[in-house]
Amino acid sequence: MLNLVLFGPPGAGKGTQSQKLIEKHGLIHLSTGDLLRGEISQGTALGLEAKKLMDEGMLVPDEVVIGMISNKLDANKEAEGFIFDGFPRTVAQAEALDNLLESKAATISHMIALEVDAEELERRLLERGKESGRADDANPEVIRKRIKEYNDKTAPVAGFYKNQDKFKSINGIGSIDQIYGAIDAVIEQ
Ligand code: ADP
Repeated sequence: MLNLVLFGPPGAGKGTQSQKLIEKHGLIHLSTGDLLRGEISQGTALGLEAKKLMDEGMLVPDEVVIGMISNKLDANKEAEGFIFDGFPRTVAQAEALDNLLESKAATISHMIALEVDAEELERRLLERGKESGRADDANPEVIRKRIKEYNDKTAPVAGFYKNQDKFKSINGIGSIDQIYGAIDAVIEQ
């Protein structure tokens, strides 16, 4: 199995690169952001609870996203592998993911970190907000809150995978194909 964690701050290009990875490697894409937005559009209790936090740029509780990922792993038992996009976002989530995979005799192959500076991130997110209709992309204050949550809670997840010798850093500035090429080089190694 090929199991990748795509890592990087909001706006780093994780979703865009996931699409290309799905096409080429036939992996199943698990984006906790997309799963949460699905719950919101279906008007579930979980979605209602998550929406308040997401609109403020805060993380939703670990148990919620871990539960969603666990369900998806169970629902895709025959998969060739997974791309985890926007998950794990805390060290507790990373530990839970290791345990979930271990129970399936699987493991994370690589964490691929897309490096993009803060100024470029804010520019990309405001640009995306014009099209995506995502409330959390339209407001500079919420964007800054998301980047702060990332620096406080998510950045330490890199250390978790560095300790396991799985951390690979990629320059996230350049053309989509250039960046994809760098990711693919890691996978083909
Ligand atoms: P981005 O990475 O571009 O900010 P996402 O679609 O990945 O966007 O996430 C949007 C929001 O969903 C986050 O700001 C957060 O509130 C929530 N979220 C997504 N994934 C997680 C997660 N793994 N843990 C906690 N909250 C999450």
